[in-house]
Formats: sequence, C-alpha cells, structure tokens
Amino acid sequence: MKKIGVLTSGGDSPGMNAAIRAVVRKAIYHDLEVYGIYGGYSGLITGNIKKLELGSVGDIIHRGGTMLQSARCLEFKTREGQQKGIEQLKAHGIEGLVVIGGDGSYRGAKALTEQGYPCVGVPGTIDNDIPGTEFTIGFDTALNTVIDAIDKIRDTATSHERTFIIEVMGRDAGDIALWAGLAGGAETILIPEENYDMQEIAARLRKGHERGKKHSIIVIAEGVYGAVDFAKNLEEASDYETRVSVLGHIQRGGSPTVQDRVLASRLGARAVELLMEGKGGRAVGIEKNRLVDYDIIEALAKKHTLDLNIYKLSQELSI
Ligand code: ADP
Repeated sequence: MKKIGVLTSGGDSPGMNAAIRAVVRKAIYHDLEVYGIYGGYSGLITGNIKKLELGSVGDIIHRGGTMLQSARCLEFKTREGQQKGIEQLKAHGIEGLVVIGGDGSYRGAKALTEQGYPCVGVPGTIDNDIPGTEFTIGFDTALNTVIDAIDKIRDTATSHERTFIIEVMGRDAGDIALWAGLAGGAETILIPEENYDMQEIAARLRKGHERGKKHSIIVIAEGVYGAVDFAKNLEEASDYETRVSVLGHIQRGGSPTVQDRVLASRLGARAVELLMEGKGGRAVGIEKNRLVDYDIIEALAKKHTLDLNIYKLSQELSI
C-alpha cells in the first residue's frame, strides 16, 4: 500500500485532531502518501480530497474539533453514494481508508469493506459507546468538562441548599452520566440502561436532607428523560425545589486531555499499521491498556456494555 486516506465523520470529539496527526505522521514515517478527505463522507462523495504533509497536521494535537471537518451524509447510506466514494478514492489512487468516528461512521466503513474497499475504524466519540474498545477518543475530555461543571454547580448548590439536576450527553449510552456522576459525587445517576423509581429517588433526597446534607446532585443522561420534565415530577414526588442545568454541546469541545491525546495517537498509528499489513475491514480499540483490533463487521454486531459495577459503587458511595 502506497497511498492512504483519512476522514472524520459524525459527531466530532476532542482528540480527533490528535488521531489525524498520528495517522498522517505514522504514514509518512513509513513512506506512504496520505490524503485528507474533508467533510466526512460528503467530502468523499464530492471528492474534497487533498494531500497532507507533515506540516499539515502541525499545531493541532491540542485542539478540539477536527481539522478535516465532519458531516452527516444521508447519501452515503445508499449503495450509489458508497460507490461514488469508492470511485473518488480510486481516482486519487488511494488504496485504504482510516475512518475516525462513532458507530454511524463505522457503518459507513463497514459498507465500504463489504464492497471490497479496505477501511479501518478508529473510535472517536465522546459517548464511549463503540463495541470493541473500552474507551473512545474524546470520552475522557468530555468527562473532565462535565466534572468541571458539576464542581461549580456544587458550590452554588451548597450555598442555596438546592437539588440540582444536571443533564449530560448520552442518548443510548449512560457512560458519561455514570463516570461523571461517580467522579462528581452525585447522589443519584440516571442512565438509559437502568430503570429508576421516582419514589426511591425522593426518599433518598429526604434521607440526605435529614442527615444535614446541604445539597443534592442528580446526573441524568439525555436518553433517559428530558431533565426539565424529570425535575417537575421529582418536585411533585419530593416537595423539594429543584434547578436544572443542561450542559449540551460544551461537552463536545475543548482541548483534549492527556488520556485522549495518547489514546488517539496510539489508535491512529495502529490503524495505519493494519492497512500496511494488508488488514482492511478492522476496527481498532483499547482493552486493559493494550491495543486490539476486531473485524469491523463483527465489532458492530457486538453490543456496547456499560460497567454496571460502577453504577452499583456510585449507589453505595452516595448514601
Ligand atoms: P457517528 O459516527 O458519530 O455515530 P452518525 O450516526 O451521524 O454519527 O454517522 C455519521 C455518518 O456515517 C452518517 O451521516 C452517514 O454518512 C454514515 N453512515 C451512518 N450509518 C450508515 C450506514 N448504515 N451505512 C452507510 N453509512 C452510514
């Protein structure tokens, strides 16, 4: 393999730039040519493709977002769209593609793989919801952003003796809520994977109040329930006044943490190695701090699982 391409797709995440840098530098280190595909699969279809040099990825390791831009592209879900993409890659002489993104982006990479075009998936999403890896690029940074917000909210919650409901990202996966909830000392964590009982939450609040707690923090994943509706129901069930804070897109931005930069560098470089070894159709990941790779089709068939021991622990520690 002499020429490879790299694109970022779907929701962006902090550390994607560090992954692009790793792909480019690792490839050039091994005398490959690297092409950046701008604007995700949309840019692939329209041929928005430019050669990247060592300097093209200078000064980006610390920046959030993605220098290659990202997009959602409906046309790429069709076979015609995918064929157009493959034609563009072939027209540029690009023989393998690194796709950095979430599970939707992996589905695109899987579609190309099934049509005989070698792709390697690199897990870039703050949601931590990709099977075949314990951690995704951007998750740690998002957690640190959430924790910063929880700590600040805690200051004001203590001063006013209030119950705060903090909504974090995670439509289908509760990882952000769970990890940030544990690290932020939340009294209650609500995640899509587990049912909850409003009366039990109200009873916990009351118990805490009776033992002199000055505030309560409830972290809720967006996929569970709208935080505002939840707050209304909790006020009815408990008689405590609540305040809602929806953190939103700030969770996607910011300079990546050390953890995310190192993870992105390792995974990006490994993706290039796999293409050089002629192993397309793989998804790279990390397990027990070791790099792993799986067949991308099999990886997508697996289900992302959340560590429910952490859920249990957070409940034990927040009595
Ligand atoms: P993420 O990668 O963050 O999960 P999306 O789910 O929006 O984000 O997916 C990103 C892009 O991947 C989509 O806009 C589309 O172009 C492509 N994609 C998603 N699902 C498929 C699919 N089933 N087949 C082909 N391409 C897909």
